[in-house]
Parts: sequence; C-alpha cells; structure tokens
Amino acid sequence: MKLPRLVMFDMDDTLISAYSGDPLAAWQRTLDPFETSLDGVATAVAAEAITVAARAFWADRARHREGRLNLARNRFEITHQGLSAAGIKDQALSEAVSEAFQALRDREMALFPDAHETLDRLRERGVRLALITNGESRMQRPKIERFDLEHRFEHIQIEEEAGIGKPEPGSYLNILDIFGVAAEDSWIVGDNLEWEVAAPQKLGIHTVWHDHKASGLPGDAPAIPDRIICGLAEILHGMEE
Ligand SMILES: [Mg+2]
Repeated sequence: MKLPRLVMFDMDDTLISAYSGDPLAAWQRTLDPFETSLDGVATAVAAEAITVAARAFWADRARHREGRLNLARNRFEITHQGLSAAGIKDQALSEAVSEAFQALRDREMALFPDAHETLDRLRERGVRLALITNGESRMQRPKIERFDLEHRFEHIQIEEEAGIGKPEPGSYLNILDIFGVAAEDSWIVGDNLEWEVAAPQKLGIHTVWHDHKASGLPGDAPAIPDRIICGLAEILHGMEE
C-alpha cells in the first residue's frame, strides 16, 4: 500500500477511549453511589432513561453542533431529562449526577494502547499528521496535553477554535490547504461514519474507519469506508517501507 502524504486523525473514540465505548454501563456506574437518592427507582432504570434522553438529544444534527460546544450545560440537560422521565425530578440531584458522570468519564479516559506507536511509526516514515476534532477548546485541549498528543501533530484543528467542524467540507479542506496536499494523497482515520467517512470521502479523501468495538459496519451506514480497522496499529500493516 502506498504511503499517504498526510493522515488526519479524529481524537475521541479514535485515539482516546472513553468508558470503553459503553455509555449505559458508565451511567450505571455513575448512578450506583446515588442509589438511595433515586426515590426507589433502580439505578439500571435511571441509567437507561438517561441514555435514551442522550440518544434523542444527540440525534438532531443542529442540536449536536450547538450541544458539543457547550457540553457541561447540555450534559446536565440530558441528565435532568432522563431522570425526570424515570420519575425523579430533582434539579440538584441532576446536577450532582451530571458532574459525577463527567468525573467518571475523565477518570476512565485512556489512550488506545497502540495510539502513540502508530502515530510515531507514521511520522518516522515521513507521513505528516493532523488532528481534527469537534467540540470545545476547554474540553479538547486538556486531553491533548494529558495524552501527550500535541508534539505528535503538525497541525491541531479544534472545532471551536477553527470556527468550523466536521462534517463541513471546509473543515477538511482547510487542513489540505494548510499542508498543500491533495485529497487523494491524504487519509482520515476516525470512528464516526458521518464525520470521518461519508463527508471526507465525498472530497476524495481515503477513509479509514476505526471500528474500536469490532462491531462491524452497521446496515444503515451512510457510506462504505475505504478501509476498516479494529486496532490503530493495523494502519501500518502493508505499508511500503
Ligand atoms: Mg470520534
């Protein structure tokens, strides 16, 4: 396989894993210490109600764009909606649970084990790297620092700082422009089938879907990735030396 000149990497659920990709179990773990405050509602029921509220919230594309740029506020809204739906209407409790979820998420966040090695091997082979991540600077910058990613990328593009995010074509084109690289000489690696597959593929970028849960391509996938990997180091397989 020919080496690309540029690889763009998504960050969340591509380089960094949060709660092992299982939000329901994470909400359950968050709620366990609050068990006695849930008015007799089982933690499993409350956790399910919050994940249903979260899915409904994030399913709306416009709301997703606004929501990810004010994550703390919206996580509270989702928590409150979910708990209310389960019959627990307690603003202070919703706030406490929402904050506990964020703390658990931070605590359990980890790099995928082969992330650094994969990035470093690519760089050793002369491949230039960009990070392209949606969301707020104050949420994304600390992760970049914590997981020692900054010096590994020639360019880091965070939606809030850039004023544009995936899946807007301009978000990818901006990076191609900065590097002076053509779409066909570039790859993008990510877990989101809209943001890292369907949209960039339309521009001619080679798309690599990180199926980190090894769940296989869903039947309703918006596009077929050019390549599917279940672990980051697979990117290196078959590359010409
Ligand atoms: Mg992602």
